[in-house]
Amino acid sequence: MNYHDVSFERSFGVSSQLTPSTLPEVAFAGRSNVGKSSLLNKLFNRKGLAKVSSTPGKTATINFFCTAEARFVDLPGYGYARVSKTEHERWAELIEGYFNQDRRFALVCSLIDIRHPASKLDENMVSFLQQAGLPFVIVLTKGDKLSRQKCAAAREALRKQLGLGPDVAMPITSSLKVTGIDELRRLIERAVAD
Ligand code: GDP
Repeated sequence: MNYHDVSFERSFGVSSQLTPSTLPEVAFAGRSNVGKSSLLNKLFNRKGLAKVSSTPGKTATINFFCTAEARFVDLPGYGYARVSKTEHERWAELIEGYFNQDRRFALVCSLIDIRHPASKLDENMVSFLQQAGLPFVIVLTKGDKLSRQKCAAAREALRKQLGLGPDVAMPITSSLKVTGIDELRRLIERAVAD
């Protein structure tokens, strides 16, 4: 996969507008502020491709990015407490609408901050992915915030909390230190090739 030839395709505010699935899709989900935009920028080595913000709770949209081989789907971040009910409904409509469509789901990257136990919303996301039988990996973010040993322990604690077997990949990444990104690229490439 040539990650350098990525281009922004479009932003969508309602799921009915989503363009048909013409390529294998790799979706990114996680709570607001988990580090999703930073990770996408590192994955493609392109500053500013996805907007990094220090204030969580941006307007909920689904953003499509494309390479020749795959479409990358940036799902709206969930769980930001200070959003209005309308904004929350928009978020739910977008995420549910996306997953309810007949699309080529190659991989869902469910992002979780390695420093904290999974939130209720993270748990819901993972059990949805399991029940729906979608291919997924858990991408642990902000790995630079803990020692290597603490990272390994946190990963096992999260694996246990989420009831995941050893077969589920849980790469530890850091966008700050640019670690774990190649491992994630390999997981994506394998999923897209399947
Ligand atoms: P998003 O809301 O999930 O898209 O998260 P952002 O990418 O906007 O990041 C949220 C905050 O976390 C920002 O202040 C980032 O600088 C910070 N951040 C993101 N990734 C990392 C990381 O790998 N390490 C550290 N230490 N901070 C990070």
